[in-house]
Amino acid sequence: MHGIVNLDEARTLVGNAFGAAGDPDPPWPFAGGMRCSPRRGPGDLSHVGFGTAGGAGRREITMAERMIGTVVHRRDLSPILSILRLVPEDGSEFPPYLAGQYIALRRENCRLTKKTVGKDGKIEFVPDLDENGRQRRGAVSHAYSISSAPFETRLSRYLEFYVVLHIDDRGQPGRLSESLFQMHSTGDRTISYFYKIAGDFTLEKRASGFQNVVMIGTGSGLAPFAAMIKQLHYNATQGSASDVRYTLFHGNRSDLELGYHDELAAIALSGTLDFVYVPTVSRPSKQDLVNPDLGKGRANNLVRRVFGMPLKEEEDLAGLSGQGPDTTQATASLQVTVRPILPSGVSESGLRERMDPRTTVFLTCGNPSGMADVKRIAEAQGIRFELEEW
Ligand SMILES: Cc1cc2nc3c(=O)[nH]c(=O)nc-3n(C[C@H](O)[C@H](O)[C@H](O)COP(=O)(O)OP(=O)(O)OC[C@H]3O[C@@H](n4cnc5c(N)ncnc54)[C@H](O)[C@@H]3O)c2cc1C
Repeated sequence: MHGIVNLDEARTLVGNAFGAAGDPDPPWPFAGGMRCSPRRGPGDLSHVGFGTAGGAGRREITMAERMIGTVVHRRDLSPILSILRLVPEDGSEFPPYLAGQYIALRRENCRLTKKTVGKDGKIEFVPDLDENGRQRRGAVSHAYSISSAPFETRLSRYLEFYVVLHIDDRGQPGRLSESLFQMHSTGDRTISYFYKIAGDFTLEKRASGFQNVVMIGTGSGLAPFAAMIKQLHYNATQGSASDVRYTLFHGNRSDLELGYHDELAAIALSGTLDFVYVPTVSRPSKQDLVNPDLGKGRANNLVRRVFGMPLKEEEDLAGLSGQGPDTTQATASLQVTVRPILPSGVSESGLRERMDPRTTVFLTCGNPSGMADVKRIAEAQGIRFELEEW
């Protein structure tokens, strides 16, 4: 476990150890210069909506009313990946939610940025300085998937989040995530949240009627799946076992960054659910390499392997060859790609049997390029594809 996050350390880590901008193995969907969906810009909370929440035992609160929460627990998996637990400061309850949904969080003192157009015509976001050259600070709000399961919130009152420090192309940290990662050092433990749950990336909406649900989550894109599997396991222990088969491909760069790994592995072992857990690391450490319980390679390439398809990087190179363009980058990319290996105890044939196109849905959340590749695989195999767009 890592201690207090030092921003320089985080920058160095992201820049050196994991490669610069465009890193194909970012710890989460946006690192390495990925962007939010253009439909929904950062800080744009138009999707949060307004209205009135209420119901038995719950005080009436305007749905988008801003509330204050306190971080009561924090676990740093790496200098840029953390699991946070938030409770309402005033002892009230969070609104009810389904596994896979999200809520908007806000911090007041974020380093603000402003939009500029660079020399090459590219839009950039640079520090917003006042007339004296001082950094302007202000509130920034963003959506975060809830990684706790609803039963955990009901029993223990907290919401859990699995967050990553955003680092842009220029090595600058994101406004809100930087503030979240600086909380330790400032001693300030408050995060505002909006009293409104949103999102339809739920099993009820996206997987209803499918016998085989295959989840593919990379980086902090695991968050909605952690909530779903924990809730399904709890339901099973309470006598509501599901007869659906669940498979989770969980990818990150190294074992240390596989948040929720132990919990998910324990659920798979417990046998309460028909659940196969496939953890995999794309930049295995020496220890990871000799750990048979860990898969190796990117999650999308493991899925490809199950279907006997070439690696994404092989397909990319083959697509360029013979057409004239420079293949240097694609060749280099293939050379450094870790070949997919499944964890011990999980077989290709066993997984293929759980992915019958007629009865299978792929639920995906994570690195955009990896998820776009999973979409290609799904299309090639005739499998229904669902994406949570961050
Ligand atoms: C439904 C949903 C669920 C999510 N769940 C999670 C989760 O569980 N865990 C997690 O870590 N993240 C999650 N995210 C991402 C999260 O909402 C934030 O986008 C992320 O933390 C980055 O925020 P930031 O303020 O640190 O970065 P920002 O400062 O917002 O920078 C991000 C990018 O936005 C652009 N940008 C910078 N400044 C501005 C500006 N002033 N105006 C407009 N654009 C700007 C830049 O391109 C920059 O690279 C989720 C997003 C969505 C939509």
